[in-house]
Amino acid sequence: MPVSPTALAHAEDLADFVAASPSSYHAAEEVARRLEEVGFVRLDEEQAWPAQAGGRFVVVRDGAAIAWAVPADASATTASHIFGAHTDSPGFKLKPKPTTGARGWLQAGVEVYGGPLLNSWLDRELRLAGRLALADGRVVLADTGALLRLPQLAIHLDREANSGLALDKQLQTQPVWGLGEPSEEDLLGELAASVGVDAADIRGFDAVVADSARGAVFGKDDAFFASGRLDDLASVHAGVVALGALASSSLAGGAIPVLAAFDHEELGSASRSGAAGPFLEDVLVRVYAGLGADASEQRRAFAASWCLSSDVGHSVHPNYAHKHDPVVQPLLGSGPILKVNANQRYATDAVGAAAWAAWCETAGIASQEFVSNNGVPCGSTIGPITATRLGIRTVDVGIPILSMHSARELAGVSDLHDLARVAGAFFSA
Ligand code: ZN
Repeated sequence: MPVSPTALAHAEDLADFVAASPSSYHAAEEVARRLEEVGFVRLDEEQAWPAQAGGRFVVVRDGAAIAWAVPADASATTASHIFGAHTDSPGFKLKPKPTTGARGWLQAGVEVYGGPLLNSWLDRELRLAGRLALADGRVVLADTGALLRLPQLAIHLDREANSGLALDKQLQTQPVWGLGEPSEEDLLGELAASVGVDAADIRGFDAVVADSARGAVFGKDDAFFASGRLDDLASVHAGVVALGALASSSLAGGAIPVLAAFDHEELGSASRSGAAGPFLEDVLVRVYAGLGADASEQRRAFAASWCLSSDVGHSVHPNYAHKHDPVVQPLLGSGPILKVNANQRYATDAVGAAAWAAWCETAGIASQEFVSNNGVPCGSTIGPITATRLGIRTVDVGIPILSMHSARELAGVSDLHDLARVAGAFFSA
């Protein structure tokens, strides 16, 4: 069955979102930019915040962003409905003294970030993007566009390549970006030039490598969408679309919808902008203070709140079906997934499953379940971390994809749009 024009438009908009978000810092800014465009007010964590009722706000902390819309009739004990996701993806991050090279080639010194499928990064034109901290105190976002490539060794020089390719994480992951002598060139100069600043003014940098190719719809009936960073920009984007569509006036009597897009999930979330850090609590404490809540009322509001933690999960792979549970096999294109794990790698429980079913029903979408094969260790995500951190009831969900942690992952066009629809139902519940 062909996907709807609305779902196709949603996928194209996601392609724009990913193109604007090569790093977590860019993603957090893009969340804020899109929401400011529809009337959200950007707040500064170092400043006093206005009274909350009736307002729509967004705050950026490093590579994370939190946004919320407060019903005009919100009180000190109004619940929050928090849609959680993450802005970072596995890949490579620039090392200090990154300008390296050998034999007439210029190369970039990079560190592996998280758990990428290393081979998937070969033979692609790659961008270098991130933030630069300058001598004058400014922090600017920079993006070189296509600049680097990790060229695979020709099969003539490695006849065993097709019987199992193993890349050394240090020796064989340093991309090329030009020809010349490293002593005379400066990779940071490329980043500086992309934003019109002087490389000599750079005092610090956080720069990652991202695929430069744009996301694309393809396959029979336009069922597929391939892109870098679907894990987890597909969820961040769904949250932005759903939150941006809400007007505070329409929220009367409901919860406070919150979008929490954390950084550093791929590393375990332990940072000031990660889900294990204080960012969400810092924001919620101030939101409830702005509604006149005392400590007890704030805890009452937390007790009534929900977190819908959204991250990608595994669709069944036709060539590796034995890697999945023999019965529960979610399929790309058949709806978002509810993630279940007996060992609390996912926070979903019976009460959460029932709540999810209700939100899906309101949204008019189908959903599937995900559970691991017992012989394959289960991944985890921000859900159990936020639940442990704040005690807020949490459900782990997401969309089924293939090629997780590849430089270019594969999702279902209809699932992407359905995730935004159920996020909207959750926000308005
Ligand atoms: Zn993820």
